[in-house]
Amino acid sequence: MASLQFKNIEKSYGDTLVLKGVNLDVSDGEYLVLVGPSGCGKSTLLRCVAGLEEITGGELYINDKLVNKVSPRERDVAMVFQSYALYPHMTVRENMGFGLRVARLPKQEILARVEEVAESLGLTDLLERLPGQLSGGQRQRVAMGRAVVRDPALFLFDEPLSNLDASLRSHMRLELKRLHKRLGATVIHVTHDQIEALTLADRIMVLNEGVVQQIGSPRELFDTPANKFVAAFIGSPSMNFFPCTGSNDEASVDGLKGSLSFYIEGPFWLGVRPTDWVIGGDLFSGVVEIVESLGAEALLHIDLGSYNVVVQASEPCGFTAGDTISLGLGCYHLFDRETGERLADGAL
Ligand code: ADP
Repeated sequence: MASLQFKNIEKSYGDTLVLKGVNLDVSDGEYLVLVGPSGCGKSTLLRCVAGLEEITGGELYINDKLVNKVSPRERDVAMVFQSYALYPHMTVRENMGFGLRVARLPKQEILARVEEVAESLGLTDLLERLPGQLSGGQRQRVAMGRAVVRDPALFLFDEPLSNLDASLRSHMRLELKRLHKRLGATVIHVTHDQIEALTLADRIMVLNEGVVQQIGSPRELFDTPANKFVAAFIGSPSMNFFPCTGSNDEASVDGLKGSLSFYIEGPFWLGVRPTDWVIGGDLFSGVVEIVESLGAEALLHIDLGSYNVVVQASEPCGFTAGDTISLGLGCYHLFDRETGERLADGAL
């Protein structure tokens, strides 16, 4: 097992600074999920931890040991990539045992470890097959198994489930959760999948353009996002935002009638999650444009005149396109209009 400390980690490629001073502590046995838009530096950070990229500034510690100059092999980490990177000419057994053979473990021990891990991942019957004879989900499990047999201090997962179809992905998500519980290992997992992040993580770190936006439990990020970026990024469908202005003890949404029941002087953002509207409330009135039924729930796309908003309601929601609808606020989030920083959260 492993704990990690990132102290002001920087990484640049030539003149381009990709990681701009990342500070983070990961505790022993923690499952940390790293999210952020494409190109924000997630894979780069993972590769720096694995030792596949050299850190250009700051200090990285694994188990209190400075590892900036330590080779990948000596870091005791196992990485699972989106592409799985299995050797096509080797059987599942050989693929899984490869790292152990390189580490010159005795044959008998390799055999025993591979069998044990194969059993736990349901791969026993597939051990003599080649990767080309496996389904995507099975290949994914082999890639996972190859990491697990090495019994590393730290697992690094880079989008490990994104090549799978939706149902297999949710199955493998559960498998990952079980695996983590059983091994008690420390994991850093990069994903762009909201559900993966929210369900697997002890804590989530949100990165944007190489800058850490917030680190916290899924609940913290969802309930008290540190800024408008995190508020928009976490949660699907995304939060609705309205530019607002407060003056003379009264605040309202720019361009709409109706006074808000809270007050902030000057310009600010109001954020409302699709689940946090009160249908039948008396703040806004609009027209239902589209109803998207998702089975148990529906997404109502509503035209408020100057703004379009999304409202999530239980089915049967009782609305069809063209209906008028009035909305009030349940929970709300307020952000600074200039910096995007969190000002307040509340519930009415
Ligand atoms: P993410 O995983 O969040 O999508 P990456 O970590 O892959 O993002 O990339 C972050 C930024 O670093 C991107 O702008 C990318 O173009 C750049 N980058 C990544 N690898 C290299 C490289 N070897 N040389 C130059 N730029 C790179």
